[in-house]
Amino acid sequence: MKKLIALFVVFASLDAAAQQGQAWDARFRAIPEARNIGEYVRIMSARPHHLGSPYGKQTAEWILARFKEWGWDAQIENYDVLFPTPKERLVELVEPSRFRLTLEEPPVAVDPTSSQKAEQLPSFNAYSVDGDVTGPLVYVNYGRPVDYEELDRRGISVKGAIVIARYGASWRGIKPKVAAERGAIGCLIYSDPRDDGYWVNGVFPDGPMRSKDGVQRGSVMDMPTYPGDPTTPGRGSTPGVSRLDLKDVTTLTKIPVLPISYGDAQPLLAALTGDPAPMEWRGGLPITYRIGPGPARVHLKLAFDWSLKRVHNVIARLQGSTYPDEWILRGNHHDAWVNGAQDPASGMSAELEEARALGELVKQGWRPKRTIVYAAWDGEEQGLLGSTEWVEHHEAELRDKAAVYINTDGNGRGFLGVAGSHALEPLVNAVAKEVEDPETKSSVWKRMQARTIVFGPPPVRNEARSRPDLRIGALGSGSDYSAFLQHAGIPSLNVSFSGHDDGDGIYHSIYDDYYHFTKFLDTDFAYGRALAQTVGSLVIRLADADVLPFQFTSLADTVQTYVGELQGQLRQQQSETAELNRQIEEGVFTSIVDPRRPFRQPVVDTVPPSINFAPLENAANALTQAADRYRKALDASRARLTPDVIRSLNKSVIQSERQLTNESGLPRRSWYRHLLYAPGFYTGYAVKTVPGVREAMEQKDFAEAEREIVRVAEALTRETELINGMTGLLEELK
Ligand SMILES: [Zn+2]
Repeated sequence: MKKLIALFVVFASLDAAAQQGQAWDARFRAIPEARNIGEYVRIMSARPHHLGSPYGKQTAEWILARFKEWGWDAQIENYDVLFPTPKERLVELVEPSRFRLTLEEPPVAVDPTSSQKAEQLPSFNAYSVDGDVTGPLVYVNYGRPVDYEELDRRGISVKGAIVIARYGASWRGIKPKVAAERGAIGCLIYSDPRDDGYWVNGVFPDGPMRSKDGVQRGSVMDMPTYPGDPTTPGRGSTPGVSRLDLKDVTTLTKIPVLPISYGDAQPLLAALTGDPAPMEWRGGLPITYRIGPGPARVHLKLAFDWSLKRVHNVIARLQGSTYPDEWILRGNHHDAWVNGAQDPASGMSAELEEARALGELVKQGWRPKRTIVYAAWDGEEQGLLGSTEWVEHHEAELRDKAAVYINTDGNGRGFLGVAGSHALEPLVNAVAKEVEDPETKSSVWKRMQARTIVFGPPPVRNEARSRPDLRIGALGSGSDYSAFLQHAGIPSLNVSFSGHDDGDGIYHSIYDDYYHFTKFLDTDFAYGRALAQTVGSLVIRLADADVLPFQFTSLADTVQTYVGELQGQLRQQQSETAELNRQIEEGVFTSIVDPRRPFRQPVVDTVPPSINFAPLENAANALTQAADRYRKALDASRARLTPDVIRSLNKSVIQSERQLTNESGLPRRSWYRHLLYAPGFYTGYAVKTVPGVREAMEQKDFAEAEREIVRVAEALTRETELINGMTGLLEELK
């Protein structure tokens, strides 16, 4: 009986469904208030609240109480996870002179929370191994593979050395990973003033940028292999779970690594001799940047407490009225490295204000058709621990029910930025046209379009003028969407505003706090409100649409661009190798180098072979046709949709992202199952699209690239078949 009523309601409201959804989301957008968001930021950033801290637990309980107050069904879900915290940190220059690094971030008088020393985690990189090493120092620029190629050309080895790399250009975890592969025994990572210090803007507390003692904490877990609790890959860290022995964990660093400030780095860098570093390697310190090795020798000693810590995820639900087993999920982390006003409270507070506003709508009579699940994750900073364990724990149910996951993290001022599953591109564009930019009063979409026209290269500029939708980016890693999208195959989006901040040289330091945020970042929380309006509108439209608003033509169009890029990449690798071989043959290198300095001549390489892209091209073309047919069939039959057909279509839509995954995962990293989007194995957070093919080509394994082409083609074909099945249902309605 109950079911029949529900069906009738759906049937009667089909024609008006879209407009009704829009009416509710317009009402929703009037509710969020900037001053509430500011108040949540103030409360959450009042004390340090990292994973395992007293205020971390209190923050989770405070968030839980808010959800309950606003009418949500909410609870805390716990997991016990490995999180090493420092017991001993020592770095000293031992030759040619002695200098012991301070490794301290001092309090600043005008900034009240900077003095909460007793509760602050010291500066360190999480998941560094213990170690006690002494060796000559070598400066390796950003510590990327390309930087070591430059060292090779100069005949400089880091074997047995301690490297000093600067933050930036690659994700921090890549730096010790590549250093260890090259034979280094230790790694220091420092913040150069050129990248986020005085070279950019004034330093804190006078300006927003990193001061000489500011240190960027952060995880160096090998997240491109798998994120989450290192001891429980692929399964939730629930009581009684079987755990890997520490010696079998593959995501810890191989060598000890510690982050330092530029105040601490300068004496070390100044003690290096040898040739000046290449122009692009030079930072903003008042020294001549040199590479070494030595004569500077450094002693690095680290010891950690390797105990488990408890994750407190807050999970809150609004039950769906019509499709309770179709879930729209949304999350942000609540844990911070220290006080974390920007990262994560600026995003978490927007999520809370959405939750309050959705609760208000329920009081006004709204019932979401689908179940809405809001999450506040713990342990994100260490390696996406809370979200990953939750997804791994609930994977079977999520694969069945999860329609979309929307993530936010820290937020700033400026332009809307969205990345994620490309079938959601039209929905994102539609919502962006409805949200007002708080400062210019045009739509946030108009501003995105204007920026693309001004800064995009000519083809992108023209497309921004003529294509109905602005393109959204692809997701790599760096926040809590990874387990949803790349492990479980759940369509995902990541949303934030940025671009007009004065600068955030306080990232992961004790100075990321309420004082800094209200002086330099989204000072009046207006963009926090815009973020809540944007994400809440997405949630309402997804929760209330009759047929889930996925447009596969956008996915197909994106896949076509990737196929073109991969073919272009191969052509470029072929022509670059041929040119280099020719230059070697001509002897030009030996003619231009300084004969008095060491130089290693590059060696002749095999020109990459042609590889067969035909399976990928054919599969992408079939997907394009299928997506187009589905779009036309859906447009033609909207008025005739029956509840049964709607249910079948949604069931397929929910499974659509899963078709793009492969159970055996990417080569050498089976946790990552999505064949279109992954974080780069050697770039970290930055996305590699069609990663199996692209990275095999980058590593010059062209046989593997061809095998991966076949796997991606098979995934696209599964997607095509699923979409054709949906079109078949629609065409039967005629
Ligand atoms: Zn964050």
